[in-house]
Parts: sequence; structure tokens; C-alpha cells
Amino acid sequence: MRILVSNDDGVLAPGLAALADALATLGEVTVVAPESERSGFSNALSLDRPLRPVRQANGYWAVNGTPADCVHLALNGLLDFEPDLVVSGINSGANLGDDTLYSGTVAAAMEARFLGKTSIAVSLAGPGARNCGKDGYAAAAATVVRLIEGWDRLQLPNRTLLNVNVPERPLQDIRGFKVTRLGHRGRAKDVMTLEDPRGREVYWIGIAGEPADAGEDTDFHAVHEGYVSVTPLQVDLTRHEALQDVSRWLKDL
Ligand code: MN
Repeated sequence: MRILVSNDDGVLAPGLAALADALATLGEVTVVAPESERSGFSNALSLDRPLRPVRQANGYWAVNGTPADCVHLALNGLLDFEPDLVVSGINSGANLGDDTLYSGTVAAAMEARFLGKTSIAVSLAGPGARNCGKDGYAAAAATVVRLIEGWDRLQLPNRTLLNVNVPERPLQDIRGFKVTRLGHRGRAKDVMTLEDPRGREVYWIGIAGEPADAGEDTDFHAVHEGYVSVTPLQVDLTRHEALQDVSRWLKDL
């Protein structure tokens, strides 16, 4: 099995190395990742400048672009083969509920949708937003290996990806897997107002809102209870239930 690995925390991130090392036990791993952190870049593609992949001493490709750039490039010209599987992560911090809209980790997996095979985004849900330790990554990586060992038995429609969040705790304390739906967050915390060195007012986007829908079937709940949350995601943004209402409305205009 040939596995493409990417992330949004950058080519030097410890979660990337933990994932690539663990997946090397299952197949041939190729890493293409942003040269520096690109968290929160969602599905952005760099269209206004060229991308220059640089091979690192450890064999990883570093790209001066976004997570989506990395996977796009890997699947459309950089590599001389088509990977069997694309895995993104392991992100430092959870990607739960509405986070998935902004997440570069999720976007990297989403960019693999044209492969026609399910891809995986993996995040480590630590106690703090940016508090993930080496053991947590190792446990999360071992969890991903378990998923991929059973990969042949998973049949999903095209353009599906799995969003996996692993609670940061010792492997033996992880209670198992749970399939979940995305929960929802409330409004983000206020932006921070600061003054720059020249006395001008600047703002800093605040932290994500608290979970507003963290019901029992959600990703928030599963991770909170110590389970690995596995949410199948689709790329189709169409609100299918609204088609009839909008159609009726358009007729009467
Ligand atoms: Mn990140």
C-alpha cells in the first residue's frame, strides 16, 4: 500500500513524524507537507504564485503552500504514482464540530476526494488547545494503524472522508471507537484588541466557541468520554432538504 501523508502543522511537526513512522509499518509512505504551520487555512489553494517543493534530508517534501496545495500537488504532478490512501495529521489539537470548516488537517484529506477512495484526517484532542505531547501522538498513531488494518472491509461512497479525533491519554485508557456526527460550537470568544508597536489598534481572532451541541452522538461527546471519534464527512455542501422550499419560492417570484 502506498500512503500519502500531509498535515497543516508543517513539515517539522511531531504529529506528522509520529503518523508517518507508524504508517511505514503498513506500506510505503510519502510525506508532502507545508514548510511551516498552516493551521486554519481550510481548503485554500495558492493561485497567485508558484509552489516549490523542497526535498528534506529525511525524504519529506516541504512545500511553500497550504495543506490543500500539498495534496493537490502530490496527486497532480509531483508524484509519479497515485497513492492508495491519503492520511492527514496528526494535528496538534482537536478538530471537532465546526472546527472542520476551518481545519487544514481536514482539508488535506478532502483534497484527496478525486482519488475515489476514502481518506483520513487525524487530530489529537489534548486537554489544552496546543498541549499535545509525544506519547499522545504515539497513541493516536497506533489508533490510525488499527483503522487502516481494517481498511479493506470499509466500503463508502466516493468523496467521503473520515474525520478522526483521538483523546490524548495513554493507549490503554482509550475506551474504543465511536462513530459520531459533528457537533456544533457556539460563537467564538471575542477578538482580542491590541495596540501595535506604532500605536495602531489591531485585533487577534479569539478562540473557538464552547460546544453548543455536544449530544451523545456527537464527536465532542465521544472524545470527552475517552473514545476515538470517527465521523464520516462528505464534500457536498448542498442542503438537499431545502431544494423543494427554494424551488417553490423561486416559482412565485
Ligand atoms: Mn493544525
